[in-house]
Amino acid sequence: MKRILLAILFLFVLNTSYAQQEKPYLLVLGTLQDGGSPHIGCTKSCCATIDSIKKVSSIGLIDPISKKNFLFDASPDMVSQWRMLNETIHQPIHKMPDGIFLTHAHIGHYTGLMYLGREALGSKNVQVFTMPRMKTFLETNGPWSQLVSLNNIQLLEMREREFIKLSEQISVEAVRVPHRDEFSETVGYIIKGPQKKALFIPDIDKWEKWDRDLIAMIKEVDYAFLDGTFYDTKELNNRKMSEVPHPCVIETMEKLSTLSSTEKNKLWFIHLNHTNPLLNKNSEQYRNLMGKGFHVAEMKMQFLL
Ligand SMILES: [Zn+2]
Ligand SMILES: [Zn+2]
Ligand SMILES: [Zn+2]
Repeated sequence: MKRILLAILFLFVLNTSYAQQEKPYLLVLGTLQDGGSPHIGCTKSCCATIDSIKKVSSIGLIDPISKKNFLFDASPDMVSQWRMLNETIHQPIHKMPDGIFLTHAHIGHYTGLMYLGREALGSKNVQVFTMPRMKTFLETNGPWSQLVSLNNIQLLEMREREFIKLSEQISVEAVRVPHRDEFSETVGYIIKGPQKKALFIPDIDKWEKWDRDLIAMIKEVDYAFLDGTFYDTKELNNRKMSEVPHPCVIETMEKLSTLSSTEKNKLWFIHLNHTNPLLNKNSEQYRNLMGKGFHVAEMKMQFLL
């Protein structure tokens, strides 16, 4: 009974709107893999109906004191996500984010930048934080290069293990991760507030290929938003995992099975493929994951930093 009451209290605290207080917080703006949902060409039950509330993986960062806010990844759903962020903090819907942090050059993570160009917003110097190879990719390939030449965006180069201070209260560090780096390197982020830290890794090939220790990283942070693309290999049908490598959720849960319940409580799977049974709260897989003490990130959830 005590555990149930604690769980209810936890969910209440989590879903309470932080828009009226002073601490910075994260706002989940999307939880899907790059292809979104409904997924192009999918004839399965997962995409039988159009659910407009589902968006591609992205997180907002809001600092009420400096009144600055940031986006992590510019997803193809950026237009509605940006509006959702402004509505949540009661700002005019046209207010620009003070910066966009990109993870890598796969379609779900940067193509939202297209809306900043002349064909749509024609923005002025929106700050876009990138790693060096990603920066060169944007500068030297159209249509992105036009965003740079017309000063719609201003690219700011990051280095790994360098904390970027965004305000008195918040700083951000890029963390390299192994991924299919065809056009850019890939990073995750550590986002640090006055009291809490979050780790955001929407895409990674395998935890074993990473030069950092996942368990040690989880112990260092308060929230970990991790790649939950596939629940298990059954979702791949005839595609080979070697073509689209990800740690399956069951693999990650197994790797973290020895963690205490407090540590497991920090885990939020994000970047779910349209086929992922965790998108359905009535699935056996969802119940299994919750029973083990992990969570699935959901749109509009807020996390105090
Ligand atoms: Zn992705
Ligand atoms: Zn589908
Ligand atoms: Zn990717």
